[in-house]
Amino acid sequence: MLLDLKKVFLSEGEIFEISFEFYLNEDTQLRSFPKPVKANVLVRNRAGLVTLDADVEAEVVFDCDRCTANTSRILTYHFEHILVPSLSEENGDEYIEAPDYSLELEELLRDDIFLELPVKLLCREDCRGLCQRCGKNLNDGECGCNKNEPDPRLAALKALLQ
Ligand SMILES: [Zn+2]
Ligand SMILES: [Zn+2]
Repeated sequence: MLLDLKKVFLSEGEIFEISFEFYLNEDTQLRSFPKPVKANVLVRNRAGLVTLDADVEAEVVFDCDRCTANTSRILTYHFEHILVPSLSEENGDEYIEAPDYSLELEELLRDDIFLELPVKLLCREDCRGLCQRCGKNLNDGECGCNKNEPDPRLAALKALLQ
């Protein structure tokens, strides 16, 4: 989606607002985004400075990194950017270029979301994961394995080293 922001860039006090939905199309084995992302975007010109504020809501479906349970979660983010018609050496990193006063909005938000997305997603903060020995999901209760008893594989290794 290419936004034409010429009016905002050229008139102080001008405001442009848009609400829309778009698909992330970044599904992998580990995570998918079955529903479109909802975005509310506000671009305004304050004393010649053009800023963009975006609120996004995305539902991610994933396998918990610890216990592998299939989980879905709504992620909400707020992003802020300063837009410039062309990048210079001084403003290169912080600003977003809008060549000819136009902006690829979806592309920008897509990048924003993927930068914020945690590398590891858990079904819940305190997920207890799977038992290393029997593989039981410990969120469903104790498995009865003796955690103090050394791992038989480790014990065999120790015996070899002695
Ligand atoms: Zn989990
Ligand atoms: Zn166990």
